Amino acid sequence: MKYDAVIIGAGISGLLSALVLAKERKNVLILEKSSVIGGNCRSYLVDGFQVDTGAHAITSLKKGPLVTLMDKYFDIIPKFIPHGHYYVRDGKKLQIFPYTLQGFARFGIISKKDRLLLAHALLDAAKNHTTQKKSLDMSVYDFIKSYKLSSKSISFIDTFCYFLSGKSMHETPVWRILSGGGTTDELTRGMKNKISGIVGIVRNTTYLNQGYPLGGIKSITSAILASFPENRVTIRTNENVTKIKKNKNTFITATQNHKYKSGTIIYSAEIKSLPKILENKIPKSFEDKLSTLKQTRSLTLWLGLKRKRDEFNYTGSEVLFKAETPFWAMPISNYDPQLAPEGMQLIGFTTIIIGSKTQKEQKQLLLNTIKKIFPHIEKDIIMQHVQVTVPEKASITVGAIFPGPKGPISGLYLAGTDTDKRSMGITRAAHSVLEMIDLMKKDKVI
Ligand SMILES: Cc1cc2nc3c(=O)[nH]c(=O)nc-3n(C[C@H](O)[C@H](O)[C@H](O)COP(=O)(O)OP(=O)(O)OC[C@H]3O[C@@H](n4cnc5c(N)ncnc54)[C@H](O)[C@@H]3O)c2cc1C
Repeated sequence: MKYDAVIIGAGISGLLSALVLAKERKNVLILEKSSVIGGNCRSYLVDGFQVDTGAHAITSLKKGPLVTLMDKYFDIIPKFIPHGHYYVRDGKKLQIFPYTLQGFARFGIISKKDRLLLAHALLDAAKNHTTQKKSLDMSVYDFIKSYKLSSKSISFIDTFCYFLSGKSMHETPVWRILSGGGTTDELTRGMKNKISGIVGIVRNTTYLNQGYPLGGIKSITSAILASFPENRVTIRTNENVTKIKKNKNTFITATQNHKYKSGTIIYSAEIKSLPKILENKIPKSFEDKLSTLKQTRSLTLWLGLKRKRDEFNYTGSEVLFKAETPFWAMPISNYDPQLAPEGMQLIGFTTIIIGSKTQKEQKQLLLNTIKKIFPHIEKDIIMQHVQVTVPEKASITVGAIFPGPKGPISGLYLAGTDTDKRSMGITRAAHSVLEMIDLMKKDKVI
């Protein structure tokens, strides 16, 4: 049998691609190397608590690529609970997190002097940008280093960069933090607008635009699966794709045990591994782009608490930056009590793995920090679960060139978080799928 399309990877990008193609009356085969579907967009049970693959807030829910796809192709739509605020924990207090640098310049947690310096930095960025087109692609560190900010502010900016791009201030480009890391649409909004945003009034409505899906993030994948039209989509798990070859108009995709024929391929696994799998010749310019992409590894520690603690009495996320191990935390059972046994609480704490620390060391550091910040929390912990993951297949870094949806040979399309640099996570994955669908339409494949 020859499929219209073989999709490699059953993460959110692969599943969304399959849904669109199937609704366009194509016969689709999804090949997934692991035994589960959903990739980084999954939820599962641990000792009665339902954890997600990392704490997730879904962005751009008012108007964004996921909503566009849901409106057009989903038969069942997940219910999103408003995310609430992002907070910064300062001792026992929580302060609302500034989303963009201009918000940061007005942020009470740093000194007045540093706020003034930052305001200067922002004006300089605006001036520079009109004369030097590339100035916003420099690293945040290079941008702020001459402003003599205090170490507290620098450490905060560094944490802020990790939060928005997955990388330190040495690697994060200035445009990423000026645009709020995906809270605006970097590619379409245009640099000029961005600059007027920097010096203009802060319009921080972002958090209203974000949500957490009732039932956990698996509700998004479940909604996609439930929307597949009958007999159009086949999913095969435990099928690690090891070879792809195109002969004339047919692709042959090989796994350990099987070979499959198709007219097109959608590759939603890590693009950096494509050259090892694809047997046709790849242009050097394509490989050069891939060499600019970098990844970040994160560690999430899920804690199941036997009671609801006052410190986590909010819906939203919190960032801790002054510690040895900064973290982002989200008490997800506050959105949906069903995610924890009755009367209990479930919180995900995510940190970035930097340097050569082992998983065990990093987890211990994180747990020590948590114990310091939340006194006697250990008495309440009845479940601990660690996940080490790559949140996005490519981080936003200075000089990174995202390849877009066009693969290195005709008929091979790319989707996923390493093809498109707009926004983050699931929203970025959805952007990539829409972009790819547009290209397939132009190519008259659908
Ligand atoms: C800790 C953490 C926190 C996050 N927070 C957020 C958040 O707040 N908001 C948000 O929107 N997003 C967030 N994300 C990111 C989001 O989950 C991912 O970006 C998204 O799920 C990626 O989807 P994808 O389909 O592009 O890639 P993946 O989920 O990586 O899917 C790729 C799939 O391809 C499969 N595969 C790989 N190689 C092969 C092969 N050779 N053959 C067959 N199959 C293969 C993999 O097994 C996998 O299932 C977070 C992620 C993590 C880990």
